[in-house]
Amino acid sequence: MSSAHLTNVAFVCCTHGDEQLGRFISYEYPFGKTDTLLYRSIIANPEAMYLNVRGVEGDLNRSYPGNPDGNLEERRAAQLLPILQQYDVAIDFHQAFASMPDLIIVKEWTEEIAAIADCFDMDHVLELDKGAGSYTGLMMSYVQNSIATEYGYAHNHQDACERARRDIQNILTGNRVKPNKLRYRIWGDLSLDLKGITEIKNLVKLTADQRELLNLQEENLYPIFIDGYDDKWAVLIQSL
Ligand SMILES: [Zn+2]
Repeated sequence: MSSAHLTNVAFVCCTHGDEQLGRFISYEYPFGKTDTLLYRSIIANPEAMYLNVRGVEGDLNRSYPGNPDGNLEERRAAQLLPILQQYDVAIDFHQAFASMPDLIIVKEWTEEIAAIADCFDMDHVLELDKGAGSYTGLMMSYVQNSIATEYGYAHNHQDACERARRDIQNILTGNRVKPNKLRYRIWGDLSLDLKGITEIKNLVKLTADQRELLNLQEENLYPIFIDGYDDKWAVLIQSL
């Protein structure tokens, strides 16, 4: 009876199989219960996790809502979706292979999301629905109150695991350590290597000189995911 008031939280692990942070989380926090919540880890793409690859036949986080007759990731998405939809909150733990700060990504900011997201000792939130561009196949487009986290500082696996452990402990104790996060929208994808043009850093606001060099009129623009994908991908986000 009392469990009716508990928040049901899914820790979604290894949506991308080469982000082995998920293996750590599923091992450390397989399931459990506190005074306020029930949680369970779900290994989203076990085949990819065992092979240590992003995906086997596709990208699971581009495969929702899934297809029972599709490739491995599409079949997996179709299996997972009704399971994930039963949770009050789903947290999709990612590991960024870019030297970027930790980041939370949400579809839109809601009270339910804030209650969990504030527990992450992270400063930055990206709100997809407020931004430019459209993204197909994302889990968060189909699962209500889902949060994706990107643990940055590339390739430092041990450190990412420790930061995730810190954040999960805060979730389990309801410790909202970092309210009033900086919130951003996606402004646009420049699809080029900004690093070759000017010295820029992830989530460090472009200076007036840099904007002039890049012929950008808008203010409050921050590069993100630099180094992320073959050194040729830089998205600009704008503070809200
Ligand atoms: Zn990922």
